[in-house]
Amino acid sequence: MYVDKVTITIKAGDGGDGAVSFRSEKYVKNGGPDGGDGGKGGNIIFVADDSKNTLIDFYYKKKYVAPNGLKGEKRNCTGRSGADLIIKVPTGTIIKDYETGRTIADMFYNEEKKTVLKGGSGGRGNARFATPTRRSPSFAQLGTKTAAKKVVLELKTIADVGLVGFPNVGKSTILSIISDAKPKIANYHFTTLSPNLGVVKYYDDSFVVADIPGLIEGASEGIGLGLDFLRHIERTRLIVHVVDISGVEGNDAYQSFLAINKELKNYSETLSLRPQIVVLNKCDVLENDDKIKEFKSKVEDYPVFCLSAIKKEGVKELVDFIYSTLKTLPKSDKMTFEEFEYEDADEQSFEIIRNEDGTLEIIGGFVERLIRNVTLDDTDSFAYFQKVLKDKGVIDKLYEMNVKQGDTIIVGDIEFEFYY
Ligand code: GDP
Ligand code: MG
Repeated sequence: MYVDKVTITIKAGDGGDGAVSFRSEKYVKNGGPDGGDGGKGGNIIFVADDSKNTLIDFYYKKKYVAPNGLKGEKRNCTGRSGADLIIKVPTGTIIKDYETGRTIADMFYNEEKKTVLKGGSGGRGNARFATPTRRSPSFAQLGTKTAAKKVVLELKTIADVGLVGFPNVGKSTILSIISDAKPKIANYHFTTLSPNLGVVKYYDDSFVVADIPGLIEGASEGIGLGLDFLRHIERTRLIVHVVDISGVEGNDAYQSFLAINKELKNYSETLSLRPQIVVLNKCDVLENDDKIKEFKSKVEDYPVFCLSAIKKEGVKELVDFIYSTLKTLPKSDKMTFEEFEYEDADEQSFEIIRNEDGTLEIIGGFVERLIRNVTLDDTDSFAYFQKVLKDKGVIDKLYEMNVKQGDTIIVGDIEFEFYY
C-alpha cells in the first residue's frame, strides 16, 4: 500500500489552570495567596525529514495530541508545561487545513520546522491577582483550552529529475545504476509502490532523481494509483521519459511515448511543458538501429538517448546531458501560497457588535478567556473583570460606539447594564 495523502487530527496541549491557595503555616494567621500559575500546553510541531518517503505512519496512527500543562500548585509553584509534540514528515509534505483546504506549510527543506498549533497558556494563580485592596483573591484563571484540528498531509516529492514511463521499461534499473538508491527491480508490472529517490553524484556536485512508478493509461483520470503518482512529478525540474524500445513486451515504443505524454498533459498543462528527455532503453535487445531511427524520425522535439541499463551502455552520456540541462533550469522552490495559520487560542482581539435590540455584545478570543474566570457573585472577580475590560480598551471602544448609561452589555453569558 502506498500512502501519500492522509487526514489526521492534531491537538496542542491545554494550558493548566492557575491555583487558588493560601499560605497555611503554623503560627501564621491569614496567610496571603500563594496559588501558582498553570503550565503551558505542548505545541504541535512538524519537522521535515529527508529519510522518510511515505506518509504510511499516518495511515495507522491518525491522532496526535500534545500533553496538557499541569495545574498550578500551592507555594507559588507553576504547573509543569506539556512537552511539544514533534511530528516528522517526509520532506516535500504539504500541510493543509482540512476545513478550508488552505495551505499551512510546505515542508520543503530537510529539518524545516513548523509550529502548526500552539499550546494553551497556563492560567494565572490567585497570587498574581493580589493587590493592596484585594489581599485575598479567591479566584484564579483557567488555562486556555485548545481545539483539535484536522489537517491534510500531502506528499509532493521534491526531486530535480522525474523518471517516468510505463511499468517495466527499466526506470528502477536506471535509478539503481546512476544513483545510490537501491530500488526493487523485477520483471513484472507495479514493482514499485512509492517513488524512490536517489542521489546522483556528479563530480563534486549532485542531483536528486525520483523514480515515479505506476503511470498507465488513464492515470490522469485516477485509474490505478495514477493520480497519486502524478503528484510527485509536479515538483521535478526535468522529466526523463523512459521508453522500452525492444518491443519484448509487445508495445509500440512511439505509441507508448504518446500515451504517457497524454497523461501528463491531461493532469496538468504545466507538466506537459516541462523540459523532457527521452531515453530509449533495452537497446541491447535490438538487432539493428531501425527502430531507433524510426522513433527519432517521429520525435524531433525532444533530445533522444539510447541506453542499455542492464549492460550499462550509454549511461555516462545520459548523465552528462541531464546534468548540463539541469544547470540551465531554474532551481525548484517552495510552493507559493498565502499562508494559513490557526488562530491563537490565546487570541487577545475582540470586537463589539450592536445587536438589533440595541444591546452591545463583546466577542472575540480574549473575551472567551475572560468570562470563564468570572463568577458574578464573587465581587473580587467581577471587579477584576471590569478592570480588564477597561485595560484592554473595551470601555473606550464602547464609548466610540456611543454607549449610553443603562445600555445592556453582553459578554458571553454575562449581561450587565452600563453605568460609568
Ligand atoms: P520499471 O518498472 O520501469 O521500474 O522497470 P524495472 O527497472 O523494474 O525493470 C523491468 C525489467 O526490465 C527487469 O526485468 C529489468 O531487468 C529489465 N530491464 C531493465 N533495463 C533493461 C535493459 O536495458 N535491457 C534489458 N534487456 N532488460 C532491462
Ligand atoms: Mg520500478
